Amino acid sequence: MNTKLLKVLPDIPEINKLNEAAEIIRRGGLVAFPTETVYGLGANALDEKAVAKIFTAKGRPADNPLIVHIARVREVRMLINYLPVGAKELMKEFWPGPLTLVLPRHPRVPQIVSAGLPTVAVRMPSHPVAKGLIRVANVPIAAPSANRSGKPSPTTGSHVLKDLAGKIDAVLDAGPCDVGVESTVVDLTGEFPTVLRPGGVTLEQLRAVLGRVEVDAALSGDQSPKAPGMKYTHYAPDGDLILVEGAPEDIARKIAELYHRYCREGLRVAVLSTEEHVFRYRQELNPEVLISLGPRSMPEVAANKLYGALRECDRQEADVILSESFERSGVGLALMNRLEKAAKHKITV
Ligand code: AMP
Ligand code: MG
Repeated sequence: MNTKLLKVLPDIPEINKLNEAAEIIRRGGLVAFPTETVYGLGANALDEKAVAKIFTAKGRPADNPLIVHIARVREVRMLINYLPVGAKELMKEFWPGPLTLVLPRHPRVPQIVSAGLPTVAVRMPSHPVAKGLIRVANVPIAAPSANRSGKPSPTTGSHVLKDLAGKIDAVLDAGPCDVGVESTVVDLTGEFPTVLRPGGVTLEQLRAVLGRVEVDAALSGDQSPKAPGMKYTHYAPDGDLILVEGAPEDIARKIAELYHRYCREGLRVAVLSTEEHVFRYRQELNPEVLISLGPRSMPEVAANKLYGALRECDRQEADVILSESFERSGVGLALMNRLEKAAKHKITV
């Protein structure tokens, strides 16, 4: 299959390109498209055969459900049986945006979308290209991240092509995504609203609207997670990522020690640094691959850069990637969750 590259402007996407992509979706094909979080791989959510193609193209396990994307709030009604408590408030505050709600699934939504669960995850993205595509296609679009299963999520059109060229019909390429990590997934079908996956909307923001919001136990411990996708190794680069946690000074010292050790073993070592330590690493270690993820206190900057940085480490064929850690507040919770999932080892100093 030849994957068609459709380059569009991020703010005012050309209608003829949206039409072309929407036609592919309506015919049961696959189109990757940008959202404010990461690129998604979309199919008509109500077409079982089309949705099945997503799993094949990505190599995604069948028990990992997809998120259904809509363009208008009212479209949620056709996907669900009823609106649970708290749903309206969250939709009003955070849609369109990086918040996915797990809701009771209407039988109209094919089982394959939800991996057989009685629930369905729904999101309304804010990216003009995503919104435009859904509107023109005039169907809800099921879309997981547009990467090969297990690899870092794509935040540019070229990331998508690297993973999926030849396996999907088209890519709408509108350049880099804003947020850079996936949406927050909140389950509203239990006793209390529960965050199954931290993401672009923070726990602090959710609590400001709903008061009590739980965090799935699996996110802190080793209990098995309720968002089926969260149990898989994710976001993993080819090299072994080692995440170093602790006080900033201790982290920098440990990274220097590990850097020397692995270099002596003849391995190619990359360093993911906070802005504060870039100069020091450059002076002391001078690694061939040194990427700044931004200031330690600004996790949203690091979140935006993370997947691109992991992919750059792969491109540079790093055997080992040493990464600093960030504060777990705000988007830092999602950032650290992704770093931990990408990491082969975690070291606390
Ligand atoms: P992705 O779009 O690739 O980021 O993956 C979607 C994420 O949403 C995965 O972690 C899924 O496990 C989660 N998800 C999708 N549908 C549901 C659902 N019905 N219940 C719980 N989690 C879900
Ligand atoms: Mg994904």
